Amino acid sequence: MNTQQADFDFSSEEFKDWVELLTMIEETGGQVPCTNYPDAYFPDKDGMDGNAYEVALAKQMCQECPVVRDCLLFAMKHRQAGIWGGMAERERDRFRMRMQVR
Ligand code: SF4
Repeated sequence: MNTQQADFDFSSEEFKDWVELLTMIEETGGQVPCTNYPDAYFPDKDGMDGNAYEVALAKQMCQECPVVRDCLLFAMKHRQAGIWGGMAERERDRFRMRMQVR
């Protein structure tokens, strides 16, 4: 059994928001750019920094995505790793800090 699955709280707000985001993606026909290039969206997995060109391309493809705003809000709210909504994790952290300062 995957212990990560066993530890996940399926009654959490994160799970509800995740289902909501997935529903939005399904309503677009499920055709969001990241499904075609998953490695580019998680460049620091396995401790690797990733390819700068792929990261830039992933961010650019997000801008064409019909759920980009909802995806960014989800990642901001639930502190996801990788590229979501056209931003890398550190960019979202900086954005969040700027929003809290104002
Ligand atoms: S905005 Fe989100 S769902 Fe859309 S391509 Fe980017 S990471 Fe994928």
